[in-house]
Amino acid sequence: MTDFEGLKALVTGGASGIGRATADLLAARGADVAVLDLDPGGVGIPQRAYAADVRDDASVREAVASAAADLGGLDVLVNNAGIGAQGTVEDNDDAQWHTVLDVNVLGVVRTTRAALPHLRGSAHAAIVNTCSIAATAGLPQRALYSASKGAVLSLTLAMAADHVHEGVRVNCVNPGTVDTPWVSRLLDAAPDPAAERAALRARQPTGRLVTADEVAAAIAYLASPLSGATTGTALAVDGGMQGL
Ligand code: NAD
Repeated sequence: MTDFEGLKALVTGGASGIGRATADLLAARGADVAVLDLDPGGVGIPQRAYAADVRDDASVREAVASAAADLGGLDVLVNNAGIGAQGTVEDNDDAQWHTVLDVNVLGVVRTTRAALPHLRGSAHAAIVNTCSIAATAGLPQRALYSASKGAVLSLTLAMAADHVHEGVRVNCVNPGTVDTPWVSRLLDAAPDPAAERAALRARQPTGRLVTADEVAAAIAYLASPLSGATTGTALAVDGGMQGL
């Protein structure tokens, strides 16, 4: 497929997991792809890699400007960089709240702010945010993470309304439990990782975890001109979790 031929895309958190699968898929479909990540080492040709921390406005501005200059413009922004947190409201202190909201919420704001002047020049401008079913599902032990993704969902709707008249579409994906290095790290920290993985699989209606490629495919759809009439939506990629 070459539905991204001639389009230029920037993927944050593109060095691992969902972001990496998305960068690879967009490149395979013909896009010129740039990756912004804390440590983009290992991201191969044809992707361009820019080291930046989405907590640091100056580093985001610099990376986005460099990516747009090197690519010759920007049509697609995938706001995917994110970190997790476990626990109830009693378990996370203020410092943890500030850190997670800084990455997951303000990270989206900073990258979008830096990218919008470039996106406005595109005939196919699209922003896709990686949200989560945690935004709406009321998951136990995820108070901080859920609040951060709830904010990403609200931001998606607000940004879609603000920028629709400028020709910039804004949507998000709501993944369920996705088999990425992040989830592997969590499972590996359990006393019995194999048993924990089996229990996690058993909790999925499909009996398996979602793959990063499946989330990437949904992101690619929302980023592509094929979804040109769609803005302000959240697409669940959760193996049926939300329906439970
Ligand atoms: P991952 O840890 O495999 O990849 C995340 C990437 O983001 C890493 O490359 C990391 O270096 C980068 N990153 C983290 N903090 C950053 C920062 N401050 N600045 C720049 N880059 C930063 O994780 P993943 O599972 O692929 O998650 C990607 C996104 O998907 C996140 O937003 C996460 O909340 C969301 N998500 C994941 C799952 C899941 O089950 N894995 C489910 C729902 C939503």
